[in-house]
Amino acid sequence: MDEMASEPKRQAHRAARGHRWEQVELRPYKEDERALFKTVSRQILFGDPDLACELRYFEVAPGGFSTLERHEHMHAVMVLRGRGECLVGREVRKIELHDLVTVPPWTWHQFRAGPREPLGFLCMVNAQRDKPQLPTPADLTELSKDKTVARFLGTNPAAP
Ligand code: MN
Repeated sequence: MDEMASEPKRQAHRAARGHRWEQVELRPYKEDERALFKTVSRQILFGDPDLACELRYFEVAPGGFSTLERHEHMHAVMVLRGRGECLVGREVRKIELHDLVTVPPWTWHQFRAGPREPLGFLCMVNAQRDKPQLPTPADLTELSKDKTVARFLGTNPAAP
């Protein structure tokens, strides 16, 4: 008989230094090769198949950013380390420790760390979820019509 299969699931994971947890694997942010992002790590803190949601911890290194994307599933985010900015829909917001951000269905979103500090956040997400959509060039042009959004995305606003 397989010894591992009879072991109960681990119920407690002690916190470790640097926003790590014992026995929680530090994973790459995404496997999706189409997605544009920079220096993001992912840890799945709660991902029991009997739960309807997962809780993950993402950390974006200084100057890094998550993928600009949208999808039907939602995100519920709490900042746990550092500061940065996020885009949700057409709103750009500065975010810092313990701020909460809700990403509704089908809403463009992206998280960016500031130049000197990492941005770490908890993200609750549906366990069953659709694949993210990435912006087309037309979507980017549309989003960039707003100067604040254009500055956030690092693109130039349309010439006057
Ligand atoms: Mn997302």
